[in-house]
Amino acid sequence: MISPYPLAARMARPDGTTVHIGSVEVGGSMPIVIAGPCAVESEMQLLMTAEAVAEAGATMLRGGAFKPRTSPYAFRGLGIEGLRLLARARAITGLPVITEALSPVDVELVAEYADAIQIGARNMQNFVLLEAAGATGKPIVLKRGPSATIEEWLLAAEYILATGNPNVILCERGIRTFETATRNTLDLNAVAVVKQRSHLPILVDPSHGTGHWSLVTPLALAGLAVGADGLMIEVHHDPEHATSDGPQSLTHANFAALMERIHVQSSGDSLKEAVA
Ligand code: PEP
Ligand code: MN
Repeated sequence: MISPYPLAARMARPDGTTVHIGSVEVGGSMPIVIAGPCAVESEMQLLMTAEAVAEAGATMLRGGAFKPRTSPYAFRGLGIEGLRLLARARAITGLPVITEALSPVDVELVAEYADAIQIGARNMQNFVLLEAAGATGKPIVLKRGPSATIEEWLLAAEYILATGNPNVILCERGIRTFETATRNTLDLNAVAVVKQRSHLPILVDPSHGTGHWSLVTPLALAGLAVGADGLMIEVHHDPEHATSDGPQSLTHANFAALMERIHVQSSGDSLKEAVA
């Protein structure tokens, strides 16, 4: 039977795909960690956090310059100024940067500054945006829509792949369910399902997946345990005063502690491999 998403299907590349973002390899033997603030707020804020996450061992820096906000009155990002600050943070830390493109109109501009383009959950089925992002040839991190099935998500990835851009990374960031104790329900089933059905690398975002900083570390570790190729984690120097997503942001110290836990868990895994 022909797959509805022939380019994204596991069968297309049974050994899996690795995507290169600068010197970072996604889908290789080591999990990657993308960390940084939800939004770029100021030079001081971004540089402080960029240096802290680099020091703690993050592989990439994130930060939103164009923010999709539920309320039109909320802080919607610094726009091009945010992109310039991300480029500065990259120059200082050496970390490749990823940021969201909200509209096809911004895609070229975002591609000029960023090493990878994020397609946010709310835009997973913005097919015109998917094609515009794909056409840049840049690596694309495609977040799962809050109400999207896995099949719809893989079909969205297919839109990008069909532009001829093979550099697609999926990101599970939680789906909307009847549960209200957490902001979203992080669907770790999806990681295992995607690994069977697709060759694309997949990240887990436990920040949006839970909405609570105290749940981020356990779900990050769980995401890696179930086979994710990496994590996306929101970090802020002063979460209480963040312009967006403060409640789910780790402090610098909490992020460093998470990185320690990841090292312990992954050396445990290699130990397991060694004795297997
Ligand atoms: C974000 O990464 O800050 C973001 C808006 O994520 P999502 O699209 O998953 O809500
Ligand atoms: Mn956020």
